Amino acid sequence: MKLKRRTLSLFNTLPRRVEPVVPLVEGQVSLYTCGPTVYNYAHIGNLRTFLFQDLLKRTFLAAGHQVRHCMNITDVEDKIIRDSQGGLPADASNEARHEAMTALTGRFTAIFLEDLATLRVLPADFLPRATAYIPQMIRLIQALEAKGLAYVREGSVYYRISGLPHYGCLAHLDREGMQAGASVDADEYERDSVTDFVLWKSAKPGEPWWDSPWGQGRPGWHIECSAMGMELLGERMDIHSGGVDLIFPHHENEIAQSEGCLGHQWVNHWVHGEFLLVEGQKMSKSLGNFFTLRDLTAKGVDPIALRYAIQSNHYRKVLNFSFEGLRAAENALKRIRAFRKRMEGEGQAGSGPWKEAIDPLARLDQAREAFWAAMADDLNTPEALAAIFTLISDLNAQDDHCALTREERDAVLGFLEETNGIFMAWPREEADLDSEVEALIEARRAAKAAKQWAEADRVRDQLKAMGIVLEDRKDGTVGWRKG
Ligand SMILES: [Zn+2]
Repeated sequence: MKLKRRTLSLFNTLPRRVEPVVPLVEGQVSLYTCGPTVYNYAHIGNLRTFLFQDLLKRTFLAAGHQVRHCMNITDVEDKIIRDSQGGLPADASNEARHEAMTALTGRFTAIFLEDLATLRVLPADFLPRATAYIPQMIRLIQALEAKGLAYVREGSVYYRISGLPHYGCLAHLDREGMQAGASVDADEYERDSVTDFVLWKSAKPGEPWWDSPWGQGRPGWHIECSAMGMELLGERMDIHSGGVDLIFPHHENEIAQSEGCLGHQWVNHWVHGEFLLVEGQKMSKSLGNFFTLRDLTAKGVDPIALRYAIQSNHYRKVLNFSFEGLRAAENALKRIRAFRKRMEGEGQAGSGPWKEAIDPLARLDQAREAFWAAMADDLNTPEALAAIFTLISDLNAQDDHCALTREERDAVLGFLEETNGIFMAWPREEADLDSEVEALIEARRAAKAAKQWAEADRVRDQLKAMGIVLEDRKDGTVGWRKG
């Protein structure tokens, strides 16, 4: 069945209103999502953002669009350098410093990709590592210098925010409060200290560096996404997304860099997901409520119940994660899966007291329209799921009285398949194997590329436990079959 292409609307942080997404190329959505800084395990607050973006992407796909998705891997940044250089002697070579950095980032890139695979997040089409795009970053900074938007101070290069009239447009900053001429070297800072920000950092002792026109140094965090986004998705894109914590300074600075260079609007839709509380409190290690995915699976939490618990809340509302919420998610999934099983089987002739029958196919159409109306309205998942549960109640009651026909059951199964394509939580058995296996193979490839043999073996064992046999092909790619 060919699906009709549906238009979706999303809240755009730039004008602060819900607007239809009209792709630059009809039927093809370009999407950039800010990826992880790979120096540690992602916590469930981070994972909420990636799950929201997967929902966004899968909704466009299910709505009949193609999606070109780029997610960067930040593999050079302040915290990475802090955590990777400690064990090295003061006179370590630059090569040794890069190696130590790559060992840390390679390991956590593989772990991150595994976590996404476990959560059935579709891999991005482009997964660029920042360190592979240093020449593009340098060229972008040079272009900003040529336009008078960047200046050098003691071997570092800074962005001159007073040079861009619309600086502050995304975070809705008050331009009066900005401090002319002050500058900040840190990648992260608060909005009450809006200043010129760093594009290129001169190397301090004990840090890995690259050669540049300004001497030895390394890129600032913000320039990474501008350079990779423009290189891989072009001079304009449809959607750029991240958590709300990235609105300022990261995305504001990305706009400054890219639009300062291009001279026109870069991103049509800025889409941000809200953060997450745990049992009503901000997650912190000292409160003992700080969870990675592995912490939760070790407690016996089903990752797909976690996926559902997160995605069944609206992405623009603060999510209060709780174990009670997880149990509710498990129960909701049981209900949908049991209904799916019932529709897969043959119905018994109804034995209950006769009531006036509804038309199951008309009821199904209503549910489908209600589902899509909710999803098209800024991904309103609570309402979309309510449409599914109303259908389940109605058809279960109907089936009790007079069994649905095979044709009606197949039509219902088609709808469950269509919606599962977004939520990935009530699959036909083994239907989701492909994307999970592909994602794990990608994680193993990343681990091997970073010489993280133990991690690569762990992924291989995980695939083995799933009954997957890997086959190294002549062209260097890896194939697989169910053993
Ligand atoms: Zn970014």
